[in-house]
This record gives sequence, structure tokens and C-alpha cells, in this order.
Amino acid sequence: MWSELETDVLVVGSGGAGMFAAIEAVKGGQRVLMVTKGTMGRDGSTIHAFPVIQSPLGHEDTRDNPEVFAEDIMKRGGQISNGKLVRAVAEASIQPVLDLDQWGVPFKKREDGRFIQEESYVPRLSTYPRVIELPGPLSGTPIALALRRRISQLDIDLMEYSLLTSLLTDRGVVVGGVILDRRRGDIYVVKAKAVVLATGACSEVYKTSLCPRSNTADGQAIACRVGAEMVDMEFARFYNSALYPESLRGVNVHAKQLIAAGAKLPYDRSGGEADVGLDPQHSDHGDPVRVFSVVRSGKGSERGGVYFDITGVASESFHDIGCFETGRFLPRLGTSVLELGPGVLVIDGGVRVNADCESSVGGLYATGDLLGGFWGASYTGATGVILALSSGCIAGRRAAKRANSTKMPKPSRVRIKEEVDRLMQLLVRRRKDGVRPSELRARLQETMGRGVGVVRSESGLKGAIEEIRGMKKEISRLSISSSVKVFNNEWVEGLEVENLVETSEMMARAALMRTETRGDHRREDYPSTDEKWMKSIVIKKEGGRMRLTTQPVG
Ligand SMILES: Cc1cc2nc3c(=O)[nH]c(=O)nc-3n(C[C@H](O)[C@H](O)[C@H](O)COP(=O)(O)OP(=O)(O)OC[C@H]3O[C@@H](n4cnc5c(N)ncnc54)[C@H](O)[C@@H]3O)c2cc1C
Repeated sequence: MWSELETDVLVVGSGGAGMFAAIEAVKGGQRVLMVTKGTMGRDGSTIHAFPVIQSPLGHEDTRDNPEVFAEDIMKRGGQISNGKLVRAVAEASIQPVLDLDQWGVPFKKREDGRFIQEESYVPRLSTYPRVIELPGPLSGTPIALALRRRISQLDIDLMEYSLLTSLLTDRGVVVGGVILDRRRGDIYVVKAKAVVLATGACSEVYKTSLCPRSNTADGQAIACRVGAEMVDMEFARFYNSALYPESLRGVNVHAKQLIAAGAKLPYDRSGGEADVGLDPQHSDHGDPVRVFSVVRSGKGSERGGVYFDITGVASESFHDIGCFETGRFLPRLGTSVLELGPGVLVIDGGVRVNADCESSVGGLYATGDLLGGFWGASYTGATGVILALSSGCIAGRRAAKRANSTKMPKPSRVRIKEEVDRLMQLLVRRRKDGVRPSELRARLQETMGRGVGVVRSESGLKGAIEEIRGMKKEISRLSISSSVKVFNNEWVEGLEVENLVETSEMMARAALMRTETRGDHRREDYPSTDEKWMKSIVIKKEGGRMRLTTQPVG
């Protein structure tokens, strides 16, 4: 029914975090197996990142350094980040850039070899000019490809098109994981002395997301199920993005640049000018909270945004628009009117880790977009990539160190069988009252957008929680249309939707609990920041139940 494999360090995910973790773990003298849902380096958010990355090299202003970087993150995050983690990541944030430089990533540099470091495109994001750039529209591409090349030079085992479906633990310590190979439908049990999770964000809980579709909350739900603590799940950062045409849903729209290039001002359902936050304090995206207000006033567009007429933009000027996606896609539109509204960029919280990126489950490390406690209440722009690279390095190194002094564990056969049965039952389940994974996912995304979106309220959140609880019950009725094992995407979607439902519950319940507005969490019924809430909401599953507690920051 399943095959067994063993490795010292199991790395799950192949974005910037996973690939750096694998490289560091193998440098630590350990056998490494990297498992990823798609093609190494090509799936996940990393390859889609825009051309702005913060790194405190101090080449533009020598006063900049990791300490100042850490202070900036803490300030932006409303001082509720985990200070030790932020400092550790900031401290580790220079070496990966130097490594990438050595591996051929063409960063913009001066003739004397110093990196060019710019002010951030978002005002007041960093104390000193800190953003490094790459030529071309997407920074993620050369970075991901350089990491792929590096990994292929090292002795790292790789399983592509394979997903982690669950972790195996023994007395509070991780001992491996169960993997489904999507290509053949085969199941593998991997024994491991340490596991690094690098599965990215959980953005697919929303219908409109700037992130790739692979971000289905697998790591969040799987870690939480084995007792890992989660933190800051109530904070989510939205950007204005396209809602319509449907083919462009989630494409980032730089409204200010389009207007500068000749587009008309956005308008609402009544034809009146719509405030999307074009004032200088906002970045080129504008402000999704303003769009929310238009929608709340009943004047929103059909899909919950505002209209944006781009007829006046000459097709040749699209190439000059700084935002790659806006410039690339808009000229090909069959329409001159866009609908513009909130799309999620990142969920600030995730698996709670210490400064070694280790979770509350022994030997389980979390990195990149999956970890919680770094951004605190508010995402700092242009720090996603550097967090992924730096936390990947830290986790890979620590996991190797742990593996070095740990014996190969023996996962419980009972637990393995339970998981294999869960997977196989889903594959063959046919019920008259069955629910298709895609249908449940669509309903969940509607619920999350309506109740746990840009601006929240008690009634909206309670309604969403009620609906999510109903969906949890429907998981046992998930039915898929074919029991073919080979490349059965619906089977995978069934596993993903369970993760999405579980993670949505965490986000909604934490958002209901935090009765204040802070950073990326906005409550219309509690519009002010309340000093009493200078604390973290921690989620932990105990006896199958999700418990939320407040804990001192850190
Ligand atoms: C449109 C966009 C623009 C951005 N622009 C910037 C920017 O300019 N600057 C910046 O610093 N940051 C930016 N970011 C953020 C940045 O890209 C991310 O924070 C960072 O790349 C996250 O890296 P990661 O390795 O944690 O996750 P990802 O790169 O998302 O990788 C996750 C990996 O996990 C795999 N995976 C998921 N589930 C499973 C499973 N169950 N089993 C096996 N594998 C699994 C995925 O397939 C993928 O390989 C941007 C993000 C987006 C979406």
C-alpha cells in the first residue's frame, strides 16, 4: 500500500525558503530529500516576486545594518513580532544575497562592485535605502533559477509533483511525513530526523489572490494538526488587484501608474469618482480599504470593487508601466474597463517558531511565508523573499545539526495506516449527497472574502465561522469523480480543500478574538488600536480541538 524511504532532513517545498534550507542542510553533512508539489523552483510565490528585495548590506548608507533592519520590521509590525526571530532573520539576511551573487544572480551593482540600494517604493518602509534590484521585471526568476542550478550540483534527493499530506510524530517530536506522488498516485512514508516545512502562504483561502494557486495552506493545517502552535493568523495584507476580466483576477494593478499614463480616474456603480487611495501616503496600488468603503456604501462594482477605464492609455506606454503584470497583460484585454478590488498578498501569521525557526513540535522547522511572528501585525513590503532565503538558511542549518545527533526514528504503523486509509478512502468515495472539492473551495473563498476580508466585524466573522464549521462537516462527504490514481488533480484538490477549511477557521477565530484594529487587521466595530491588545493570539490543537489563547509578545 505504501513504500518507505528514509532521509536525515526532509524539506517540503521548493520556493526560496525550501531551496536554501536544502542547500544548508546538505552543507551540514546530512542526507536531504526535497519534496515539492510542482517543478522545483518553478512553483510557489518566489518565482513571481517583483523586483524589490530588502537586504541591510549598507552599501548605499553605511549606517544600515541588520539591527536597523530588525527595528524597521518591528516598528512596521506594531511591535508585536517575535523580536528574537526578527533579529535572527535580519542577522542572517546578508549571506544569502552574497551567495546568490556568487551563483550568478545579476543584481544591479556599481562599477566598484557595491550593490545599488534604493529607497523602497513604499514610503517610510526602511530607515536607509535598502532595496536591491535585478534587471527585468521579476526578481524571483533569476533567484529561483540560480537556486535550482545550485541544488542540481549538490547531492540532494528530489521528489517533484509530490505533496506532503501529513506529518508523523512520536511523543511531541516529528519523525517523518506521508507523501503522495501525484504522477503515479503512489504513497511514500518518509522517515526523517528533522523536517523543514517551506510550503508557503495560505492565500488560496481567498478567491482573489496575487499568489500562485499552489498556496493551499497545506503546511499551516498539517503543522497545526500535529500540535504546532500558530500565531498572528488574524493579520492579512491585501493589495488592489484586478477582479474582472476573470482571466486577470488577482493581477496586481498599479493604479497610480496607469493614471499617469492616461487612464481615467476609477468610478463607482453610480458613475461618480471612486476613492481608491491615490494619495501620496499609499503605494502605487492605492488602498484596498478605500475600495472596501465604496463597496460598503452600496456603490461597488458587480464583483465587489470599482471600475477603472483604461481606454486613454496608449498601448506603447504599457511597456513603461513599472508593474510587470499590469504592463504585460492589460494591452491584451478585450475590454477597456477593469474592475479593481482587494486581492490578498500575504497572511502575516503562520507556524510559531523560535529564533532557530523551530516550531513547538520538536524537530519541525517552519520557514518563509509559512512561519509566524516575523511580520507581526503588518507585512513590511519587499521582505518576503529575504525572509524566505534567511529563514531557509537558519532552518536548514539547525535541522542538520539536530539530525546529526538524532537516531533514525520509527514512525508508528498505526498512524501511517490511518493516513494511508484517509487518502485511499477519499480516492474511492462516491456519495449521492457528495460535495465536489472545487465546489467547497469556491464556497469557502466566498465566505472568507465576505466575512474575513479587508475590514472585519463581529457579525461578519461570526457568520463566517458558522459557515466554516458547516464546511468542516462536509469534508467527510467530499467525493471525487474518478478513482484513477495517475495525476488525479481532484484527489489532490480534495486534500487541499480540507487544509484550506482548517486554516480559514484559524484565521476567522483569531480575527474575532482580536477586538481592535492593528496593522493588517481592521475591525469596523473596533476601529482603534487598543494597548490592551499588545499581545499575540496563539492557536493550538489539543484533543482534536482548536484552542486560542492570548500570550505575551515574543
Ligand atoms: C505577486 C507577488 C509579488 C511579490 N513581490 C515581492 C517582492 O517584490 N519582494 C519580496 O521580497 N517579496 C515579494 N513577494 C513575496 C515573496 O515572493 C514570498 O514571500 C516568498 O517568495 C515566499 O517564499 P517561500 O519559499 O516561503 O514560499 P513559496 O515560494 O510560495 O514556495 C512554497 C513551495 O511549497 C510547495 N508546496 C506547497 N504545499 C506543498 C505540499 N503539501 N507538499 C509539497 N510542496 C508543497 C509549493 O509548490 C512551493 O514549491 C511577492 C509575492 C507575490 C505573490
